[in-house]
Amino acid sequence: MDRRKFIQVSVAAASAGIAARKEAAAQAKGARPVVIASANGLNATEKAMQMLRQGEDTLDAVVAGVNLVENDPEDTSVGYGGLPNEQGVVELDSSVMHGPSRGGGAVASIRNIKNPSSVAKLVMERTDHVLLVGEGALDFARSMGFEEEDLMTPKSREIWMRWKRNLSDRDDWIAPEERLPASLKPKQTAQLASALRHHGTINCNAVNEKGEISGVTTTSGLAFKIPGRVGDSPILGAGLYLDNDVGACGSTGRGEANLKTCASFLGVEFMRQGDSPEEAGLKVLKRIAENTVEPYLLDDQGRPRFNVNFYLVNKAGQFAGVSMWSGGRYAAYEGRENKIRNSAYLYKRPPRR
Ligand code: ASP
Repeated sequence: MDRRKFIQVSVAAASAGIAARKEAAAQAKGARPVVIASANGLNATEKAMQMLRQGEDTLDAVVAGVNLVENDPEDTSVGYGGLPNEQGVVELDSSVMHGPSRGGGAVASIRNIKNPSSVAKLVMERTDHVLLVGEGALDFARSMGFEEEDLMTPKSREIWMRWKRNLSDRDDWIAPEERLPASLKPKQTAQLASALRHHGTINCNAVNEKGEISGVTTTSGLAFKIPGRVGDSPILGAGLYLDNDVGACGSTGRGEANLKTCASFLGVEFMRQGDSPEEAGLKVLKRIAENTVEPYLLDDQGRPRFNVNFYLVNKAGQFAGVSMWSGGRYAAYEGRENKIRNSAYLYKRPPRR
């Protein structure tokens, strides 16, 4: 490398280093506004941040953000195209909380409406209730002008049909390729294989420049669940919780674990006691691990076999993503940067062989 080039490269490296140090210092103190979300929420954090910068309300911003993901037929964990229950019916759960007005609203097991987060927001704004379920939630949505539609897409139907096919070898369901000789069988894509029994949800939380906080969680829940099963997402304190004086915490992953530990509430309470978002999230994961005793949920070292993830932000704008197992990721928009980041974790996955 010639001298000139060397100097150019060194200067570029030094300014990248300075930028990284500035970002780390800002994050250590906390910098507002901030929007964080689960890893499928990069478009949501982008949209929400745009709205915060235009001075819009924090809850309007995060709901508009997650609406994009609810409307996306490719995301099989949320809204339109979300995976159905075992009978092939999509049942959606969602909750919202608005810090400045100390409001909360939720819907559970709602069918035929692709934006349950917007319905949850109206439960908060237009009723004296917090949670509406099933038929009641659908009636309410209709009365608010929401259109009913079939939420199954060709993709989600295909995944459901394959799940049905794989349930048992003592029924008459077959997959189309089973009729074909081995040489003609198409390869099953990795995406399809991993979708066969999966969790997925979006949580998105925002703190604006003034320190006002809102959050939303929305999901089609556990794929192929027993009809009527409700997860943590529409339960304030489990899949979402916030306190405008402290911060917000929301979750994706095994809802049953969060329901039994009031996990998101606990995350906010740990932050209230002075923990950073990362410390608080890791303590919640530890509490879940300690309370998981069912042998079928534990590995040979007594650790939970499932994953669960939290997305936490405090009033100052410090934030973190944490996961039970290494490899978790989350989206965060802070300063000028909207990007996917690595979550902290409780247990390290052994390397794949
Ligand atoms: N937490 C959601 C539920 O249990 C699903 C998920 O995030 O994967 O319904």
